[in-house]
Amino acid sequence: MVTINDTTLRDGEQSAGVAFTSEEKIAIAQALSDAGVPELEIGIPVMGEEERETIRAIADLFLPAGLMVWGRMQEDDLRAMAHCGADMVNLSIPVSDLQIQHKIRKDRSWVLDAIRRFVPAALDLGLEVCVGGEDASRADLDFLLQVAETVQEAGARRLRIADTLGVLDPFSTHELIRTLRSTVDIEIEMHAHNDLGLATANTLAAVKAGATHINTTVNGLGERAGNAPLEEAVMAMQHLYGMDSGIDAQRFPQISRLVAHASGRPVPANKSIVGAAVFTHESGIHVDGLIKDRSNYQNFDPAEVGRSHRLVLGKHSGNRAVMRAYEDMGMPVEDWQAGPILARIRRYSGQAKRTPGISELRQFYELCRVQ
Ligand code: MN
Repeated sequence: MVTINDTTLRDGEQSAGVAFTSEEKIAIAQALSDAGVPELEIGIPVMGEEERETIRAIADLFLPAGLMVWGRMQEDDLRAMAHCGADMVNLSIPVSDLQIQHKIRKDRSWVLDAIRRFVPAALDLGLEVCVGGEDASRADLDFLLQVAETVQEAGARRLRIADTLGVLDPFSTHELIRTLRSTVDIEIEMHAHNDLGLATANTLAAVKAGATHINTTVNGLGERAGNAPLEEAVMAMQHLYGMDSGIDAQRFPQISRLVAHASGRPVPANKSIVGAAVFTHESGIHVDGLIKDRSNYQNFDPAEVGRSHRLVLGKHSGNRAVMRAYEDMGMPVEDWQAGPILARIRRYSGQAKRTPGISELRQFYELCRVQ
């Protein structure tokens, strides 16, 4: 069993130029929880009073989802996280030598001491604790294992392995998570980034290696190239590993639209699961195959994600598809008419760079009928 911790409202909002309003954050939290997402990372309390009010407003919804907030291992951050309404905190600290030396300008022993100080302090505030190992993928492995042991001894329940820069591949991810799982008994959460397009693959590799938790974001929103998309992780675990996440996938289109609108980041047409074009078929060979038997060209039934196949006419259509489409429109055409109509459809698609709509198709029908 793997638990999804969705961070659309934290890492997702951290995307450059993305800023949700309080109402939007509340609506997204509600929608994710309604869909059955078990844990949500909802913000960064130290950012200010407005952010804390939004976090409190989400907590006041008393959602079934567990609520996590994010902060650094610093006094100000911890003070802001106290009494904000969240159940759990992610206390982030750099663990790669590179970031320890060049970002926080400390050393390894300072990092271990900070874990030993801040974890009990957060526990004293009645908070559950996840330690976020920033840049863990570039950390020295022996030191990272020492960090994991220290996290466990300090009483935290979870260690987040952040592939902050998206440098892992599925093989290195598997090896890393497997090693951590055999070293410590705490929960291990995978936080993947998509800089090389591998966030979902790395997340699945972490699942295979025994990660107990994974971070996702709706539409793959997140810093730079984003995080592992919620919709991809859920559907891939379901279909490749037979793992039920407990999340209602039929709600993905609605949640995707909500987040696309609130973030100002439109979803690319070919984005898996939620993109406008991913269940649309034009090629004559594929359409013919689909009509004969859906499983010819169907990975999973689009109804599982609240969608359906759509057949369109375009450059790659064949006569059969033309005849079927016009039949469906109540304008049956004969064999000899399909060819000239298809020629017009092809010309239109090339010039307009899109498939013809119903009015254009009607026009082609009229033009070819009078010939
Ligand atoms: Mn991140």
